[in-house]
Amino acid sequence: YKPLVAVVGRPNVGKSTLFNAVVKKRISIVEDIPGVTRDRIYFDAEWLGQEFTMIDTGGIEFVDQDNHFFTSMRYQAELAIREADVIIYVVDGKTGIQPQDEEIAHILRSCGKPVILAVNKIDSVEQEINIYEFYNLGLGDPIGISAVNLMNLGDLLDEVLKYI
Ligand code: GDP
Ligand code: MG
Repeated sequence: YKPLVAVVGRPNVGKSTLFNAVVKKRISIVEDIPGVTRDRIYFDAEWLGQEFTMIDTGGIEFVDQDNHFFTSMRYQAELAIREADVIIYVVDGKTGIQPQDEEIAHILRSCGKPVILAVNKIDSVEQEINIYEFYNLGLGDPIGISAVNLMNLGDLLDEVLKYI
């Protein structure tokens, strides 16, 4: 049994980019157009000798009765809450808080699982000021990261290890 770490968040915040950065293999396709890709969603990763399985919930799709694929952030979040040992909730430091972020935060606040709030796209020290508004989501201290520049990913994973 390896602990399951779920990456949750609305489209385009950088979940796949973060996932790829952590697993150190470019196995998912990063796309600007949400819903276009068929991402690889599970991968085994390791940090400081601790192994865990990471899941990119943004890649989870559902099939309706007409065989159409669709994604649902609510289902993705609920799946993560049910299955995961730790949830990394990714938000976008460039766009700030969006209504969908509030919806997911509302679900996660009462979920009973550890939630780590990662503010992505903090690509430079000057942008760190953008993390503070995310205190309003009521999920504790936000951690600023840049999945593209690989900034603060160690701090994020250190936080994950506290719970697994
Ligand atoms: P997802 O829909 O949450 O999986 O988001 P993606 O990982 O596909 O990324 C969406 C877009 O955000 C892509 O154009 C990425 O290059 C961009 N992106 C992801 N991480 C960062 C980051 O740390 N900084 C910046 N500036 N852009 C990022
Ligand atoms: Mg993605």
